[in-house]
Amino acid sequence: MRVISKPKEMQTIAESLRKEGKKITVVPTMGYLHEGHTSLIQKGRELADIVITTLFVNPTQFGPNEDYEKYPRDFARDFQQAEKAGTDFLFNPKIEDMYEKGYNTLINIIGITDKFEGSSRPGHFDGVATIVAKLFNITKPHFAIFGQKDYQQILVIKQMVRDFFFDLSIVVAPTVREHDGLALSSRNVYLSNEERNRAGIIYKSLDEALQQIQKGESRRKILNAMLHNTLRTVPEIKIDYASCADADTLEEPDVFLPGERIILMIAVYNGKTRLIDNALVTVPQDSNVKKHYFV
Ligand code: AMP
Repeated sequence: MRVISKPKEMQTIAESLRKEGKKITVVPTMGYLHEGHTSLIQKGRELADIVITTLFVNPTQFGPNEDYEKYPRDFARDFQQAEKAGTDFLFNPKIEDMYEKGYNTLINIIGITDKFEGSSRPGHFDGVATIVAKLFNITKPHFAIFGQKDYQQILVIKQMVRDFFFDLSIVVAPTVREHDGLALSSRNVYLSNEERNRAGIIYKSLDEALQQIQKGESRRKILNAMLHNTLRTVPEIKIDYASCADADTLEEPDVFLPGERIILMIAVYNGKTRLIDNALVTVPQDSNVKKHYFV
């Protein structure tokens, strides 16, 4: 595995790999790699000849009162993990090289960024879209892999890829979880033992709502109430949002129809740590909606 830190050098390498006919996958990360990240890298290996893992804690996607400064960083460990998982190039640029003096461009994606993470973290998706566009131009990939863990991020990036004619495919990988369902996250390292034990309630509440959907419930307000009620059984956890929406548009209809895909999304504060998770489900054909609305 080679470590590259200069954008121009990475771009030249990517260009010559393309000329040789190689297929390239990029896996963008902010480092402090865990099995969620390495599952993306492994998927990248299956898809393409070359895997470029990017490692960059991107300042523009953090709000002023967020955890940019204390975000966990451990280059030696990341190097090992990235190499073991099958990375060919680890692109680890400096801030001043990604945002050169005088940079003056931000990408602002509207609509899909209005709610959930977009409204809770103003400016977050501008930072994400901007850095991802830069990484696409630097690594020239055929495939880019993102985790379902950051669901709204995927919709935002897909929107940008369509709108800007980026010539690549976005691939989504499933969320890797701990034994109690907690989604792996670099931020889990912030949790005390107590907070870690409480965190299982996030997946539990997603799972309970999923089961109700399988049994035929598809009224949005009822589903939202279920998510809230389960989360509230652990009063120390503060809910930012716990909502379901159309999985493609994030619209919030009163009722989801059979065959429609619902995304259940949760963001909570567990102590000072903000955690997010989600679950995707298709409304079954025999959903009770038929009973409620079509008889
Ligand atoms: P991050 O380093 O947190 O910016 O995440 C980099 C990539 O890894 C993003 O595409 C995330 O969605 C993905 N990712 C983070 N956590 C997980 C997880 N538990 N399972 C699968 N992918 C993940």
